[in-house]
Amino acid sequence: MTYLVIDGARVVSAHRTLASARSGEAQGLGHSTEPGPSVGGVPAWWVRTPQSGEVAELGILRTAATELGFRFELRACQAPAGSCNHRPCAAYATWAVSSRYGLLSEFAAFVPLSWVWVGQRSDDPRGDAPQFLTEGQALVDRLRADVRQPPRAVEEPPNDTRTLEERAQAAHALAVRFLARHFGPGSEAGGVVVRPVLDGQDLHLRLDPSIPSYLAVCGTALSGGCRDATGFELGARSCDRCFGRAPIVPSPVLGAAEYEAWTSYIHQSGS
Ligand SMILES: [Zn+2]
Ligand SMILES: [Zn+2]
Repeated sequence: MTYLVIDGARVVSAHRTLASARSGEAQGLGHSTEPGPSVGGVPAWWVRTPQSGEVAELGILRTAATELGFRFELRACQAPAGSCNHRPCAAYATWAVSSRYGLLSEFAAFVPLSWVWVGQRSDDPRGDAPQFLTEGQALVDRLRADVRQPPRAVEEPPNDTRTLEERAQAAHALAVRFLARHFGPGSEAGGVVVRPVLDGQDLHLRLDPSIPSYLAVCGTALSGGCRDATGFELGARSCDRCFGRAPIVPSPVLGAAEYEAWTSYIHQSGS
């Protein structure tokens, strides 16, 4: 169970006990005494008693508050190092959203000028996908070992001659690349599946996930009566454009993962 001290929605420290969080808060932030709704019999958060006319500010939050819709974001300042004078920073990018404070704070250690922000936001499931959690944990474990200089006997030549600075830069690049893969706007983590769909007698292909969901690969708007198919329906006409037998005009906008899924489906069903 972790108690987080919050200042302006930013996590400033994490504590094992409420008492420790309260003392962490004492340094200039003021005390949070007003309890919020409870999760498992303990308040999910405490707010600082507002000055007259001000809104109450979130002061201490339990990580269990994610049950009530709180999410953590890993944010990093995008301004050149040292040049940001916004308080709070107004030039940040969000690298990840998750209900797991622990994992995001471990990533924050490898991303310079980053911090963990907390708030209630619409559900973005990507940061709680099992694949992200498993691969993310494996990566931070590896990076933690990687940035440390392994102890060795003085007379032995080092296996890894990189300086600590170079190690930190490499870890930063790996962390950011991993997060971009999972959270980038074109991110299709989880994989794209191509499904045949029967619309009347016409057999089209549809991408899953697909936005919007009623569009075939060829661009045809599928009717409400279409249904998933096996691709071997008797008497069905396979759409030439969906099945890649005719130039697709206009060319559908496929992301890299979608294009790969589509071409491998075509090759496998054509053989
Ligand atoms: Zn900034
Ligand atoms: Zn089609």
